Amino acid sequence: MLIAENTVAHFHYVLKTPEGEVLESSREAEPMAYLHGSGGIIPGLEEEMVGKTAGDRFETTIPPEKAYGEHDPERVQQVPMAAFQGVDKVEPGMMFRASTDQGDIPVMISAVEGDTVTVDANHQMAGQTLVFDIEITEVREATPQEIEHGHTHADGHDH
Ligand code: ZN
Repeated sequence: MLIAENTVAHFHYVLKTPEGEVLESSREAEPMAYLHGSGGIIPGLEEEMVGKTAGDRFETTIPPEKAYGEHDPERVQQVPMAAFQGVDKVEPGMMFRASTDQGDIPVMISAVEGDTVTVDANHQMAGQTLVFDIEITEVREATPQEIEHGHTHADGHDH
């Protein structure tokens, strides 16, 4: 079976920077699964998956606009250290949730200079070109329930 609309594909991936640094990998765990056509994975990767089948292995390079988007400077803010009362140590790389007009969103501290903390609400991989090494392990038809829900149930959640 080939990956197409309303199929569920399972795959192993190694995600790297163009320089070859490994950012994430499924190799130590179960393959990832997604319902094709549901937007469950980044758009550039979903495009590359079309027509692939179990056993296929390929590498693909995805530009930021087809991955997590460009880095938006308007989503970077400087806030006073006083906003972090109750936090023991405020340092770059820390993630936390911030309340905004759009609800709670994950933000990362990108810099700390004196009493000024820079927080970045962009996705951590925004602006990055991503290289995926993909191995398809299984392709099957989605169940009617998966299609109705718009996601796969292969990750073990059930209703
Ligand atoms: Zn569901």
